[in-house]
This record gives sequence, structure tokens and C-alpha cells, in this order.
Amino acid sequence: MTQTLTSGPHFDLTGGHPALDFVNTVDDRLGEHPQEHLASYADLVAWGQQAGVLTDEQAGRLVREAARHPARAAAVPRRAVEVREAIYRVLLAMVGEVPPASADLDALNETLAAAMARARIAPSADGFAWGWSDEIALDRMLWPVARAVADLLTSDQLARVRVCSAHDCNWLFMDSSRNGSRRWCNMQACGNRAKARRFQQRRRVKA
Ligand SMILES: [Zn+2]
Repeated sequence: MTQTLTSGPHFDLTGGHPALDFVNTVDDRLGEHPQEHLASYADLVAWGQQAGVLTDEQAGRLVREAARHPARAAAVPRRAVEVREAIYRVLLAMVGEVPPASADLDALNETLAAAMARARIAPSADGFAWGWSDEIALDRMLWPVARAVADLLTSDQLARVRVCSAHDCNWLFMDSSRNGSRRWCNMQACGNRAKARRFQQRRRVKA
């Protein structure tokens, strides 16, 4: 069981916010061959574990539940990707300072409403803390995602969300640089690629 849970895809969680890490689960979104990292229910569970929104125990229970209800489980990543793309477009609209599409906000709000119906408060060491119903719902990894997106959209961190400048990337990231001038989601991957491309273009111009 542990093997199936840990041998899945390895997710890049460098967006600086769980909402952005969720949005960044597809590579080359605008390219000819996007690479979907939430293609299966197992992928979604692996993401939830790596992002820290599912415990190993919850992940194990979900995998067993999915095995009992394969058709219902297969619908979850499809819905997750639809909602993810709506979240992406809402955040992109915010970055571009244009109003988001109401259909995208509706999709987000629908997911948020379903999630918040499962929100719970529980006693903690120094009072109470937000938590979730412990029911085995196949889409429970989406509850904290919806809440994280709502928190981000209503926080002053929203002004720090950027879109990667690499032409084929479009990942979102939180710019925590002092002057707010970071351009790439990842300097190693996208920054160097963009530099190499500029270098090649300069060579072509000279040739
Ligand atoms: Zn990038």
C-alpha cells in the first residue's frame, strides 16, 4: 500500500502558496502538448499527500475507497482539472487586472461551498483550529484547495501573484522578492531556458 502511494508522480511545490501549487499541476498549459499531472485519481491522492492536505492514513483510506468505486473515483480528477483551470483563469485575470469570467467564479464558488460544508472547528492546544470532517469523501483533497484559493483571493498576498515569463510555462508563483520583480517560476528551469532562447535568437540575428 505504501508503495503505491509513494511511487506516483513527484510534484513541484514551489509556487509559494498551496493554491498556486495546485494550479501548477500541468506543464506547458498553452503549448501543443500539455502534460497533465492530475490524470488519474492516484495522481490526485499523491498530490494531496505531497502538498500536505492528506495524511498518509487518509490517502490510504481514499485509495481503498477508490478501488471500491472506480467510476466515481475516475470522475474526481476530471472535475479537479476543470476547477483548477477555472482557478487558473481567475488568478490570471487578477494578475492581468481584468475582471474574471463569472462562469469561472461560479465553478470556484460551487467547489468552495461544497468544501465549507465539510469545514469543522476542533479543540487545539491553545483554543480551536480549522479542520475538516473525517468522512471518506473521494474529493476531500479539494476541500483545503478551495479554502486556500479563497484565502489567497481575499488576502493582500494576491498582489504578489505572478505568471512565469517563460513563453510556454504560464505557471503561477508568489513573488516574495523585496522589489516584486521576480519573472520566472523557477530560475533553473524557466529562467535559464529563457536566457538560452534569447542567446539563440541573438545568434540567429547575427548569422
Ligand atoms: Zn516557468
